[in-house]
Amino acid sequence: MAQITENEIKTIVEKVIGAMQSGSTSKATWDSTQYNGRKLIGVYSDMNEAIDAANKGYKAVRDMSVEKREKIITEIRRLTIAEAPIMAEIGVAETGMGRVEHKKLKHILVANKTPGTEDIVSNAKTGDDGLTLIEMAPFGVVGAITPSTNPSETVICNSIGMIAAGNGVVFNPHPNAIATSNYAVDLVNRASKAAGGPDVLVCSMDKPTLDSAAIMQSHPLIKLLVCTGGPGVVKAVLSSGKKAIGAGAGNPPVIVDDTADIAKAAKDIIDGCTFDNNLPCIAEKEVFAFRNIADELISGMKKAGSYMITPEQADALAKIVLQEKTNKAGKTSKVVNRDCVGRNADVILKMIGIEVSKDIRCIICEVPFEHDFVQHELMMPILPIVRVDNIDQAVELAVKAEHGCRHTAHMHSKNIDNLSKFAKAVETTIFVKNAPSYAGIGFGGEGHTTFTIAGPTGEGITSARSFTRQRRCVLADSFRII
Ligand code: NAD
Repeated sequence: MAQITENEIKTIVEKVIGAMQSGSTSKATWDSTQYNGRKLIGVYSDMNEAIDAANKGYKAVRDMSVEKREKIITEIRRLTIAEAPIMAEIGVAETGMGRVEHKKLKHILVANKTPGTEDIVSNAKTGDDGLTLIEMAPFGVVGAITPSTNPSETVICNSIGMIAAGNGVVFNPHPNAIATSNYAVDLVNRASKAAGGPDVLVCSMDKPTLDSAAIMQSHPLIKLLVCTGGPGVVKAVLSSGKKAIGAGAGNPPVIVDDTADIAKAAKDIIDGCTFDNNLPCIAEKEVFAFRNIADELISGMKKAGSYMITPEQADALAKIVLQEKTNKAGKTSKVVNRDCVGRNADVILKMIGIEVSKDIRCIICEVPFEHDFVQHELMMPILPIVRVDNIDQAVELAVKAEHGCRHTAHMHSKNIDNLSKFAKAVETTIFVKNAPSYAGIGFGGEGHTTFTIAGPTGEGITSARSFTRQRRCVLADSFRII
């Protein structure tokens, strides 16, 4: 394990304390081009230059053996585990969102469970007419747009998959998480160099903007766009005219019926909902509980570290965490207050004058289905609970609350018919039964991980093969051995 130097610790501690002293709602300022006096590799001021450099990286990967690619990926995994504490600290300090301990775990998950070159498999078809080979080929240079919620996790996860598939990558990271994202870009490049690959394998921007994203989207060398973010950016890349993978927003509902292990359901839901302060897009966002077990569920949630607010307090809090915005066309809608996203529960409660201990990790409340807390993807540890009479009502409301994102849904039940009914009706990319949400991305559940869950474009739990195009080679009339 690489050691964090004393200087590095001092810098991080100063920044974290700075962020905390300002009420944990403001972010520390970080340099997106250097870390502790060390220049970050692969960071450019001009998107065209970044794309040219990524193209060189792509050519180097294309000429490389698969074994060499795998060596680079092994080194990325090693460095990610070693430097998870640094990225977790910077991530929280720069964005002001999430929890350091959980961000560490997310990086370790990415390092251990993102598939590498083994995910790329060829197919052969033989018959009377000879042999046909179908291979998963790289696209070329991928343009990747990454979010503020899992910044370095997404950069590393995307890099492993895209490099394993033989691509180059240029990132346009979220403006609120540039330093964290660029630290990860630099880590990938350091891994490449250490494993005998090119010095600059993946690239990024020092000041990513919508303009740099636009250059990326129209540049002839960019053959695939991969976008992880909210509805606005997914729509933008899907309208670009290029092949695009869109990993968009969700609003994952949870149903708890009266056959569930209620104490376990309560703990699982709060564990999932509060993981990294609800930043993961798969995290539990609203609960539909059978009326006859709702009290027991709420009591279990309180035991698991939740604080229950009254409906009046919920209304007061809704006015703070959601703000009205009018667009250019004069249409008004509610948007999530960025100063509340990913904050600790005690910090959010303080905004309505409630002081609680730091052990409180979730705010729960009983609300009607129409409440803003149910309808909006909040990405903070606030969990609304709606009582329902039966499975049909639960499924109907949960499907509506998911808003057709087809992202993620959860259910706690031992009734196979109920489980199947919801799974079929909600049509989500991920459906987790009787576990915290993160089991759906391989954390305490089977299967590989990703931080780019592509519901809208259908790739699902993306991996190296998602970033490939199929190519066929035909040899007619011979090359069979039987
Ligand atoms: P965001 O939508 O604010 O930003 C995502 C990225 O898009 C950023 O890099 C941003 O600068 C860029 N961007 C925004 N509008 C753009 C435009 N018109 N053109 C080009 N680029 C644009 O996302 P965020 O707040 O960082 O992340 C949270 C959102 O992302 C949530 O809705 C969450 O559900 C979603 N998300 C989805 C996944 C998934 O795998 N499906 C993973 C993480 C986050």
